Amino acid sequence: MFYRDTWAQIDLDRIAHNVRHIKEHSGYEHLFAVVKANAYGHGDVEVASTALEAGATHLAVAFLDEALRLRAAIKHVPILVMGPVRLSDVALAAEQNIDITAHDIDWITQLAQYRGPVANVHLKIDSGMHRIGLTNAHALETANSLLSDHKCINLVGLFTHFATADGSKDYYAKQLKNVAEITAGIDLAAFKYVHQSNSAALLYHDAQPNTNSARLGIAMYGLEPNDSVSSPIELKQALSLHSRITQIKRIQAGDKVGYGATYEANESLKVAVIPIGYADGWLRYHQNRPVSINGKKYPIIGRVCMDQSMILIDETVKTGDRVDLLDDQCTIEMAAKDLQTINYEIVCSISDRVPRRYM
Ligand code: PLP
Repeated sequence: MFYRDTWAQIDLDRIAHNVRHIKEHSGYEHLFAVVKANAYGHGDVEVASTALEAGATHLAVAFLDEALRLRAAIKHVPILVMGPVRLSDVALAAEQNIDITAHDIDWITQLAQYRGPVANVHLKIDSGMHRIGLTNAHALETANSLLSDHKCINLVGLFTHFATADGSKDYYAKQLKNVAEITAGIDLAAFKYVHQSNSAALLYHDAQPNTNSARLGIAMYGLEPNDSVSSPIELKQALSLHSRITQIKRIQAGDKVGYGATYEANESLKVAVIPIGYADGWLRYHQNRPVSINGKKYPIIGRVCMDQSMILIDETVKTGDRVDLLDDQCTIEMAAKDLQTINYEIVCSISDRVPRRYM
């Protein structure tokens, strides 16, 4: 039950479409649906359930907290925490059948002392992103020998992450070469899951040698990892953002709108107010952006407030009319471009205060 006239609408059929087609296109046996950050703002449990029905086999998140939340709703599917987990939380993850990432040789040396319920572990290689992961063959071989015969550890996976699968082909090729060098001394076939691809690699590159799994994030939500590259698959944007007009007023030449009085009318104008603001993730940068009412575009005027925004309208618009802030006309890609950011940030910014409706 919601008591405000602002909502994000999530089309789960579109998520299913994206997952099905990307899985088919990639041919990977195992597909991890990346549902961190509340499924990039789309709703973790709803998206996870839909993705699994559409062909995803695993779930992946950034933090143990996110995995535990999902585990409470989804019982029998492997969930991988891709970020570091505290050593003191390994037993909790294992009890909940949540797979963890071994990212650092000191951490792994301490994990070798672990006694408790059997923990599923994926080794993480840093092949050029220089974020988390083991950076050389010696570290990987040491980690492998410390953990592979461990009674309380089940070494199930090995993975890396690409920095430029949506961009520089040279750097992508360099990472592939680094992976080959770092893993040369170990038997990749011993790992149940070997995964490297994110959305961009899935869409824009061939499957890497010796991998059988991939991690699908942004493209599952129907958003292109790089908006200047065209995807081989028709991606369908799953999220739209809407509000309703709560008040309309006429202002006169010289009247100003919003905090800082930054917008000044130069004639008699009509202004509509909608109940969405920067605390909802409708950021101040959206000032001047177009929104759509009854299929026609109108600009946001004045500064976006914490809870409300103002729109310059015409005579056709009425109180209670629906305002489409992000949809197939005012797309997330367009908003990202206007705000000089990426589509990831637009969807992840929509705050918990905005009710999600599913269709
Ligand atoms: N794998 C890792 C380790 C990630 O951090 C992410 C997202 O940032 C993904 C996979 C999914 O990436 P994308 O959303 O670009 O598909």
